[in-house]
Amino acid sequence: MKAKIVEVFESIQGEGLYLGEKQIFVRFFGCNLSCSFCDTRPDRFMEYDPQELFKEIELYQDKYHSISFTGGEPLLCKDFLKEILVLTAKHGHKHYLETNGTLTAELEELIEYIDFVAMDLKLPSSTGMGDLWDKHRNFLKVARRKEVFLKAIICQLTKEEDLKQALELIRGVSPGSVLILQPNSNEHPGLLDKKLSRFKEICVQERVTACVIPQIHKMIGIK
Ligand code: SF4
Repeated sequence: MKAKIVEVFESIQGEGLYLGEKQIFVRFFGCNLSCSFCDTRPDRFMEYDPQELFKEIELYQDKYHSISFTGGEPLLCKDFLKEILVLTAKHGHKHYLETNGTLTAELEELIEYIDFVAMDLKLPSSTGMGDLWDKHRNFLKVARRKEVFLKAIICQLTKEEDLKQALELIRGVSPGSVLILQPNSNEHPGLLDKKLSRFKEICVQERVTACVIPQIHKMIGIK
C-alpha cells in the first residue's frame, strides 16, 4: 500500500491552538475540496509505503510535541494512515490531525489513534463552495471524543450569517471547543481588522470561546 506524500519535515506549528509547538509534519497530496483561498496545491509528491514513511519519521531524533498529519486531506489515505499511526504510536509519538472536517467515516476508523484534531469549519462565503454544515456536524460528533479545536478562515467576503451558523454548530455539538478565527493570509491584514473585531464580539455574545490567530509561520518566513 502506497500513499502520495508531498513532504516530511520538522518545524514549529504555525497556526491554531498549538502554535509554537515543535512537530514533525507529514503533508499528504490531494484533497476532496477546492477552497478559493487554498495555498496548498502542490504538483509533486513521492510515493511511500508505511514502513518507508516510518523510517523517515524516525530520522528525526529530537523531542517533538507530536506528528502533524496534514495536507491536502490526510483522511483520503485512511488505510495507509492507520498503518502509520499504529507504528508511530508504538514508538511513543502523539498524533495531530489537520483536517477539513468532512470525511466522518474515515475519522471514525482512526479516531482511537488520534490525540489532537485541528478541524476546519468551511464557511461558504469564505471558500466559495456550497455549505458543508451537515458534514461538519457529523465529523465533530466523532472528533469530540479527543481533544479538538476548530478553525475558520476569515476573508473580506466572509458573512456574519456563516459565522453565526458555525457558532450554533459548535454550541450544539461540542460547546467547550475553541474556535480559531484565522485571517486569510492572502489578503492584507489591515483590510480584515474591523471584521475580525466584530466577529470576536459575536463569538462572545454567542458564548463560544474564539481566538484570532494568524498564520505565524508565514509572517516569520518558516515552513
Ligand atoms: S481543504 Fe485545505 S487543502 Fe483542501 S482545498 Fe481547502 S484549503 Fe486546500
